[in-house]
Amino acid sequence: MSGLPIRRWPDPILSRPCAPVADPQAVAGLAADMLETMYAAPGRGLAAPQIGHAIRLFVMDVAWKDGAPDPFICVNPSIIAHAAETVAGPEACLSIPGVTAEVPRSPWIVLRWTTPEGVLHEQRLDGAAAICAQHEQDHLDGIVTFDRVSSEARRALEADYAG
Ligand code: ZN
Repeated sequence: MSGLPIRRWPDPILSRPCAPVADPQAVAGLAADMLETMYAAPGRGLAAPQIGHAIRLFVMDVAWKDGAPDPFICVNPSIIAHAAETVAGPEACLSIPGVTAEVPRSPWIVLRWTTPEGVLHEQRLDGAAAICAQHEQDHLDGIVTFDRVSSEARRALEADYAG
């Protein structure tokens, strides 16, 4: 398998909140397919709604393009703490190909999530991992990068995206 089809904005599944996962073990196979899809895209993060499942699950790996893979599979993730300030930086999205938006993000967060094995994890994430996790967490709430920029910036980005 080279990857699942990735939904593109403005597919409505990208704009609505996702439902909690009742049984983390039941999504282990889907998560493995999502990682494969993400690596093939190629990308560093992929949320379940991007492949048509409106559930609170994302995968990410911010290390693999620079060296050894370090995959995360996050079921029912939540951001339980974050830096007080935000810093804007460029972000791409597999669902909005060709568009890079300057999005303000916390430079560090503490993420809590459940693994497909049902183990609860909590970890501080910094830098690229923190930014990626915030981007993927947004997808679970029906938020894309367009929703995180000024209306003026959004108009310009949407015009670029349209062609
Ligand atoms: Zn995205």
